[in-house]
Amino acid sequence: MEIFLVNNSYKYAVEQIMLMLFPGESPIYPEKSSGALSTTVKLSEGEKIVTATSCIVDEEGKRYWGKATANKADFTDKIIEQRLIQRAVKLSFYRAGIKKLGKKPLWGALSGIRPGKLMSELIDSGLSEKAALSAFIKSYDADREKAKLCLHTSRASRRVTDNLGKKDICLYLGVPFCPTRCAYCSFVSQSVERSMKLIPPFVDALMKDIKATAEQVNSLGLNVIALYLGGGTPTTLSAEQLDAVMTALEDNFDLSGCSEITVEAGRPDTITKEKLLVLRRHGVSRVSVNPQTMSDHVLETIGRRHSAQDVLDALALVREVGGFQVNMDLIAGLPEDTTESFAATMEAVLALRPENITVHTLSLKKGSRITLEGTRIPSAEEVEEMVNISVSGLSKDGYAPYYLYRQKYMSGGLENVGWGLPNCDNLYNICIMEELCSIIAMGAGASTKLVTGTGRLERFFAPKFPTEYIADIDKTCAAKSAIKEFYHELSAE
Ligand code: SF4
Repeated sequence: MEIFLVNNSYKYAVEQIMLMLFPGESPIYPEKSSGALSTTVKLSEGEKIVTATSCIVDEEGKRYWGKATANKADFTDKIIEQRLIQRAVKLSFYRAGIKKLGKKPLWGALSGIRPGKLMSELIDSGLSEKAALSAFIKSYDADREKAKLCLHTSRASRRVTDNLGKKDICLYLGVPFCPTRCAYCSFVSQSVERSMKLIPPFVDALMKDIKATAEQVNSLGLNVIALYLGGGTPTTLSAEQLDAVMTALEDNFDLSGCSEITVEAGRPDTITKEKLLVLRRHGVSRVSVNPQTMSDHVLETIGRRHSAQDVLDALALVREVGGFQVNMDLIAGLPEDTTESFAATMEAVLALRPENITVHTLSLKKGSRITLEGTRIPSAEEVEEMVNISVSGLSKDGYAPYYLYRQKYMSGGLENVGWGLPNCDNLYNICIMEELCSIIAMGAGASTKLVTGTGRLERFFAPKFPTEYIADIDKTCAAKSAIKEFYHELSAE
C-alpha cells in the first residue's frame, strides 16, 4: 500500500493499522501515487483540536474517508499529546479502512498486544466498570464481548495490584530445548534430537546466570513473588538436571515470599514420574501439560510426535503424584483442524477439569515451518467460531478469563486468553501481561523487563541460541548489573 503522510510522521501507527486491516499489503512511501491502493493521512491543527483525516484510494480511484480528533485541552504533557494525536491518526485510518473493507474487526481499532491494560487505565481514571466498558467500546470501536474479556482480566489485575509491594518481582528461567520442534514454532527452541550434547554445558552456564542474577536481586532486597520455568520445555532436562537447577534457585534466592512456582512440562513426551517427584520436592505448585489439540491427525500434522492418549497418560501421572495445579494450552486455528474437531478437543479438555486452560489462536510468524509449507489453515471465520466455542464452553464450566494478549499475525486478529477456575489465577502471567512488576530473567533468550509503578520500563535480553548463550555467559552475567543501576536510579528520582 502506498502511504502519504501530510504534516505528520506517524509511520508506525499507520503501518500497525495497515497490517491489521490489510494483512497482505506492505508499506511503501513513494513521492507520487502510481494508481495502486494508497492512503493519505493528514494532520491539521485548529485552536482547540487536532484533526486527523485519512483518505484511502483504491485501484479504481474510489475514495474512502475517515476522520478523528484529539482535544488540545487533554494534552497535559508532551507524551500524552503524542499519544492522543497518534490515537487520532490510527482511528482516522481505521475508519477509512473499514469503509473500504465493508466490515470491521472484532477488536475494532485496537492493534496493541495488551488491550486489557487500556481497560485497567479507564477504571484507574475513576470510571465505574459499566462506564469503562462503554468508553472502551466507543473509543476503540471494539466488540462488546471482547471488551467484556478485558473487563474480566482487568479485575484479575486489580486483585494482584491490591497486594503488590514496591519491591515485588517475578523470576523467569528459560530452557530452550524441546524433544522435537513443532511445525508452528517460532521460538528459538532446539530439538533434543539435534542438540543433546548442548544440555550439560547449558546447565553449567545457567548455574552462573542464577548466581549472578541472585547477587543483584539480593543486594537490592527485592522480593520474589513468583517463579516461572518456561522455554522451550524445561522438562526436556533429566530429573538430575532439573534437581540441580531447582536446588541452585533455592540456594541463591530467598523464595520465602514466593507464592507460586510454575514449570512448563508442555510436551507430554517429556513427563516422567521421577521428574514430577523432583518438582514436587522443590515446591513446584503448577505445571503445564499442553495438548494444543486432542486430534491425533492434527497432532501429527504439526509435528508433535505424541498422541492425545499420551496427554491423558501424562495428566494422570501428574494427578497421581499430586500437589500441582495444572494448565493446559490449546490452539484454535491449527492446520487441518475443523470447528467440529476443535469442539471435541474442548469437550475432552474440559472433562479433565484442569485449574487453568489457555486458549491461543494460531500466530504464524516468519520462520515457522507451517508458513513455509503452505499447509491448509482454517479460515478466519472458522477460527472465530472455534474461539466462540471455547468461550461458551469455558464460561459454562465455571472458568473466567484472567489474562489476555494479542500477537501479530494471529488468525483472524484474535487473542490468547488464560482462563482459570475460581482462585486459580496464575500470578506470573498476570504480572507479565499487565506489566505490573519487574520480570527478572535467566537462561537463553530470556528477556528481563524492569518496570516501575510510574510506567518507566527497561528491557534487556540474553543471547537466543544455546550455543551463543553458553559462549557468552560471562558477558550475560556482567550485564546483570543493569538491574542494580535501574533500581538505584529509581530511588534517586
Ligand atoms: S513445545 Fe513450544 S517451544 Fe517447543 S517446539 Fe513446540 S511450540 Fe516450540
